[in-house]
Amino acid sequence: MSYTGPDFDPPPQRRSRRGPLTVALAALVCGGLLGWGVYAATGGTDDKGEEAGGSPSAAPRTPSPAVSSPASAGSASPSGEGVEPPASRTPSASAPAAAGPLKGKVVVIDPGHNPTNVRHTAEINRQVDVGTHRKECDTTGTSTNDGYAEAEFTLDVAHRMRALLEQRGATVKLTQDRDRPYGPCVDERARIGNAAKADAVVSIHADGSGAGNRGFHVILPGSVNEGEADTRAIVGPSRALGERIAGNFVRVTGTAPSNYIGGGTGLVTRKDLGGLNLSTVPKVFIECGNMRDSKDAALLTSGAWRQKAAQGISEGIVSFLRG
Ligand SMILES: [Zn+2]
Repeated sequence: MSYTGPDFDPPPQRRSRRGPLTVALAALVCGGLLGWGVYAATGGTDDKGEEAGGSPSAAPRTPSPAVSSPASAGSASPSGEGVEPPASRTPSASAPAAAGPLKGKVVVIDPGHNPTNVRHTAEINRQVDVGTHRKECDTTGTSTNDGYAEAEFTLDVAHRMRALLEQRGATVKLTQDRDRPYGPCVDERARIGNAAKADAVVSIHADGSGAGNRGFHVILPGSVNEGEADTRAIVGPSRALGERIAGNFVRVTGTAPSNYIGGGTGLVTRKDLGGLNLSTVPKVFIECGNMRDSKDAALLTSGAWRQKAAQGISEGIVSFLRG
């Protein structure tokens, strides 16, 4: 809302991809999925997804060493017009809920990674139990080739979302707001949403896949019942949340669903992410784009685009919460 950067809004580019290109259209499903002029994916070849330190099913994931350059991971504004909205400087404690359609609703925003994870590799490499297995506490995240860190992107979008959702009356909590040296660990990220009895939780990320792979995807929890993980009660509502977010993200940003995972739907289900496996409240992740693709990077580094991304995600949440 209070975005002040340049008005950069490149048209969604149909990028050539390997494999047969088809144009799927109108996956107009429930409420939010309007205007879904989609690409057909070539078949979810490699996904990747460093998010939550996860090793997604078959994916050669790009480790995140790129961020290890202190220069790129500092707290300064990243390249691009990293103008942060005023709300970004407020503490993570949520403001008193305003009157609005979401009054009484609790939304937890989970900005993926943490800008200072890079200085705490021993701590974030500690293994934590995510029910199905043990995995790293957290990861550094990826970055654009020019050094704009995913962890800066996620915080920026989270701040913009917080402002938008508080305007609608929601009580908003962030799992981290540059207010801790690293993490939180993925299990704690889930528990923060659970403890808040959140009505919806969204974990914000950007991907680190290969050049040419473009677009966003929303990650939904699969049905898991193992160890401390039991997602059976949240699979349905989380899918509803994810569909609303995907539909509104397309509508508001004008960008297409992933051309490399999700079969053109912008929706992917995973069972390996602790942040989802340990959640007891409706929760999804969103990979807003691929930082390693130059065209996606141009969007991700644009304050104007990030504002649209935040708006699209927020409107999906509003749609979900209003039923
Ligand atoms: Zn991530």
